[in-house]
Amino acid sequence: MDEYTSFINGEFKKGKQKREVINPSDGEVLTSVFLACQKEIKEAVVSARQAFDQGPWPGFSLAHRKAILLKISEKILENAKELAQLESLNTGKPIKETTFMDIPSAAETFKYFADNLEEFLKTEKVNINTQTAQAKAILPREPRGVTSLIVPWNYPFLIASWKLAQSLAAGNTVVLKPSVLTPLTALELAKLSYEAGLPKGVLNVVLAEGQAAGEVICTDQDVDLISFTGSNPVGKKIIQYSSENVKKMIMELGGKSANLVLEDADFDLAVNGTLCSIFLNQGQMCTAASRILVHQSLYDNFKQKLKELAGKIKIGKALDFQTQMGPLISEAQRNKVETAIKRASQEGLEIIAGGRAPEGKEFGGGFFFQPTLIEVTERESFLFQEEIFGPVASLTSFSSQAEAVELANDSQFGLAACVWTKDKEKGEKIAGEISAGTVWINTYGMFFNQLPFGGFKKSGFGKELGKAGFLEYTRLKNIITDQTQGAKPLVNYWYGF
Ligand code: NAD
Repeated sequence: MDEYTSFINGEFKKGKQKREVINPSDGEVLTSVFLACQKEIKEAVVSARQAFDQGPWPGFSLAHRKAILLKISEKILENAKELAQLESLNTGKPIKETTFMDIPSAAETFKYFADNLEEFLKTEKVNINTQTAQAKAILPREPRGVTSLIVPWNYPFLIASWKLAQSLAAGNTVVLKPSVLTPLTALELAKLSYEAGLPKGVLNVVLAEGQAAGEVICTDQDVDLISFTGSNPVGKKIIQYSSENVKKMIMELGGKSANLVLEDADFDLAVNGTLCSIFLNQGQMCTAASRILVHQSLYDNFKQKLKELAGKIKIGKALDFQTQMGPLISEAQRNKVETAIKRASQEGLEIIAGGRAPEGKEFGGGFFFQPTLIEVTERESFLFQEEIFGPVASLTSFSSQAEAVELANDSQFGLAACVWTKDKEKGEKIAGEISAGTVWINTYGMFFNQLPFGGFKKSGFGKELGKAGFLEYTRLKNIITDQTQGAKPLVNYWYGF
């Protein structure tokens, strides 16, 4: 496989420092990347700044911008098979997931924002008529300028595509920083975008360790917006960096989402949905519903069924189409999960299912871990409060609707939640009481380009997707013209001359 380098000002730039990229399915070296030094990171910002201030991109007609975004979408679909394979090799995601979810969804996102950018960017007109003055105002939506998009390793292609599609559709230029663990498909995306006609310098991809790149990019006065998806501790650092030059921020951080199974839930649907809500992508989802709360009347049966089905999930290498659960992203991530399990055992928590790496030759040097369920009765337990970011869920019973809501809200995070009930009205009422940015009823993890996604509390602020998410990548200007006739507004004639 080719060695990968940063992409700056329309060219692949080979840095000096090399870093190996590991295939999590076997622990072998997949390829190497050359990391950008501080000077090259700055060049990427300068390139995006020049492309915004002097380049054609923000000035292109909306129809022209739309045509390029549609072309990017088409190119993703034309290359979908290769992209899915590369993403699976690099992340350990089962190929079925990258083939049917990540890659086609990313193409769909570019198409959605291409199709809607003209509508979303329409200038609002307001007529003002008070007793003392009349005015008309126009409220144009402008691009923000240079946007820095920092993405995590769990959905590298999809999250990069969400951010990129919105930012480009709004007319911005971009410095994209993928995780050094999973940088490969972001570079392929840059290549496809240029083939689709994106002008030079509009998209720059920087390969660098987070700490090294973070401060340079996030303090730079040439960067106008930072859109970050990642962990809470890194999010806090970025908020500090960006305060230096006061930047617009979109922060999508961690989560500890609750899954409420009510007394009247459709049992089969709730069990199947619950498995997906925590074990998909090896539990490495910001939205992972890692706190399963079940009404006491169903609790024992539900626990039994979950345990039985969790044990049947087929663990295997990412490129095997039969694989339902791949490896975790890295040895370090698996160690983190193992440490959490040890701590749970030391605290006397009962491990109902899984709890260790699967054994067998077929797992070789890969970073696999079994789907794990742990019974938790005390909400103060670290397992109920802290994000593990692996295939580990706590299981807790409740006796009333009020208790279920109270347990769900007992978290520093507020990213997502779900409710399983046959009573849709009750479901909506409970959803209204839960402090989370997205609440699903009788499903989990349905994302639509049309709908905004983003967390409350320590899960961050700002939205991605939907019109609300798109508008975050724009700035709103207010242009006012005085229309007063037959009177002298005080703001003009205060001095009375
Ligand atoms: P991370 O915070 O370690 O890294 C995210 C990105 O930030 C990477 O590109 C990394 O290189 C970069 N980074 C690291 N240190 C930095 C610094 N000092 N300055 C600037 N950038 C820096 O997160 P991760 O381990 O890649 O991903 C897992 C985390 O992401 C979990 O907490 C998960 O909940 C969260 N996440 C949230 C969402 C969401 O939409 N809310 C989605 C996916 C993942």
